Amino acid sequence: MATSTIDMPLSGGHPALDFTNTVDSRRGRWGPDLLQSYGDMITLAYRTGLIDKAQKGELFAIEKANPQKAAMALKEALQLREAIYAVFLSEDAEQPYPEEAFECVHEVARQARARQVLSETGAGFRWLPLLTEPADLVGLFAEAAAELIVRRYERRLIRECKGDNCGWLFLDTSKNGRRIWCSEATCGTHERVKRFRKKRK
Ligand SMILES: [Zn+2]
Repeated sequence: MATSTIDMPLSGGHPALDFTNTVDSRRGRWGPDLLQSYGDMITLAYRTGLIDKAQKGELFAIEKANPQKAAMALKEALQLREAIYAVFLSEDAEQPYPEEAFECVHEVARQARARQVLSETGAGFRWLPLLTEPADLVGLFAEAAAELIVRRYERRLIRECKGDNCGWLFLDTSKNGRRIWCSEATCGTHERVKRFRKKRK
C-alpha cells in the first residue's frame, strides 16, 4: 500500500493519471488520500517529470512564502483531481466525457495556458509554464490532462484497474495492449491468489 507521493508506484503511464492515483483506493473503500499537503503535490510533479529539480526548489520556496495561497491551491487541486478522474474513468466504460468534469479540467487548463510565457530554450523558442504562484502547479496537472484529451483518438482508452481496493487509472502503453492491472506485481498477483484459493475450496 502506498503511503505518500514519495513512494507511491507511478503505474498510471501518464502524469495526469498518476495524479488521480493519489487516492490509494477508489474501489471497496475510498482512501487514504496521499495528497495531504501542497508539498506532496510538488513531489508528485517532480517524480512524474512535470517539473525539474530547479523548479521543484522554486515551488517549495513559493509554498513557504505563500502558505495560505498554497493551502487554497491544494483545495483546488483536489477538485481538479476528482474531475480528471471522472473524465478518464468514463473512457473505461466507453462513455462520453461527463460535461461538468470536462469543463472543470478545461477551465483550469485554459487559465494555465493563458499564463504561459514564450521563452528561448536550448531547443529553440517554446511556450513554457510560468511558475510564480502556488496555483501554477495545479495548472500543470490540468494541462497534462488536457494533453491526454487532445490525443483521445490517437491512443488507447484509459482503463480502470479492477483490483480489490484499487481503481487506479492507467494508460496501457504495452505493445499488445492487454494490460488489465495497474500492476502485475500487486493487483495482478492478488487476483491470482484469490482465484487459487477459491478453486481449492
Ligand atoms: Zn490495481
